[in-house]
Amino acid sequence: MPFVKYLRCARCGRIYYLDEKPVMCKNKDLGRLDIYYDYEAIKNSITREELAKRPFYMWRYFEFLPVSDRKYIVSLGEGGTPLIKAERLGEYLGLKNLYLKDETRMPTGSFKDRCMSVAVSMAKQFGFTKAAIASSGNAAAALAAYGAKAGIDVIAFVPDFAAYGKIAQLLFYGAKVIRVKWTEAEDPTVKMMKLVVEKYGFYPSPSFGPFNPYQIEGPKTIAFEIIEQLNWSIPDQVFIPTGAASLLTGVYNGFRDFNNVGWINGYPKIVAVQSTGNAPFVRAWMEKQDPMNIRPWEKPPETIATGLEDTFPWDGDAGLKALYHTNGYGVAVEDELILKAMKLLASLEGVFAEPSGAAGLAGLMKAINDGLVDKDEKIVVLVTGHGLKDPDIVRKTAGDAPTIEPREEELVKVLEKYYGIKL
Ligand SMILES: *Cc1c(COP(=O)(O)O)cnc(C)c1O
Repeated sequence: MPFVKYLRCARCGRIYYLDEKPVMCKNKDLGRLDIYYDYEAIKNSITREELAKRPFYMWRYFEFLPVSDRKYIVSLGEGGTPLIKAERLGEYLGLKNLYLKDETRMPTGSFKDRCMSVAVSMAKQFGFTKAAIASSGNAAAALAAYGAKAGIDVIAFVPDFAAYGKIAQLLFYGAKVIRVKWTEAEDPTVKMMKLVVEKYGFYPSPSFGPFNPYQIEGPKTIAFEIIEQLNWSIPDQVFIPTGAASLLTGVYNGFRDFNNVGWINGYPKIVAVQSTGNAPFVRAWMEKQDPMNIRPWEKPPETIATGLEDTFPWDGDAGLKALYHTNGYGVAVEDELILKAMKLLASLEGVFAEPSGAAGLAGLMKAINDGLVDKDEKIVVLVTGHGLKDPDIVRKTAGDAPTIEPREEELVKVLEKYYGIKL
């Protein structure tokens, strides 16, 4: 069942076939190997009705993923996350049809599990036994977990300031974690990863397309699920927290694939959200930069959204095209708005996200303010990572709880003093 026709370098156009086990382009120009599928073959092997009978998790879309045989699948039950109708938050924002795609409940706590389930399955198909990653944390945690499941050794390069919640997770999954000092704009974790890939034969498995084209296929399934969960209707806008723009590109590609097999007709506006403390992709959109020549951010990132701190959007070329093709746009938000979004998500909808995970909502709030959203539109916000990923930020903003002796007078007093509640 060969559903992948070939891979083609987005920069030099060189073609590769799966049996050559391609991962990075040999021309070393860091062009991503875009995967081209045989949509006729997919259409002939599955229908919407057959799809509906399969278990609701990521691999129900097997035909749209690059793995050649189900026996290579490395899964922890990723995908199949709920699309929550956000009634209270919608009312607060004045929107009638607001939905949250809740990726906080993935096996390692972020959508990156979709990426790494595909990447590690391909590593298994290709016969790799060791993998390397550069990541601010979530992609590394995901790779470490899937690596553990598959028996593949993982070395993870993270920035020296990476959140401890993420490091703890990595160490338990058995990854060899190295914090790398970040003093210049160039991402030093990528530099280290390239070294072990080129010199020591590691499988490159970051969530950046030019280094690994397979992981980008995972987030396609977010788009597939949204379409099915909305009963085969297309939302008007999808808000996506953006760092390397790999997630955004994957989600766009998912809508593209369903169009290509004729299961839907049209696209939502794809909206990229970044922090003002590191916004190279949104800046590229605003300045209409050449997709093949996006200008990296000049400084180390300064934001609480530690999952969005890529100073160069590795998949920005495809990401910009996705914005243009869907009439989408980019917004940059202040950290304060991200914190506010975190609190609203948790207190109105019961969804606890880390700052990067809540950035999509902050972007929606900014877009409403800028007059870019109509109250009747069907809006989907991706909530991409769990709040417990970053306990430092949580402690800084939520503080701690008061302690009392177990006596009524104390309770009455403290409720009024700390929480303004009179019993
Ligand atoms: C990685 C990540 C993103 C952004 O994905 P990119 O592919 O880098 O654009 C968003 N949210 C969370 C929680 C992440 O870990």
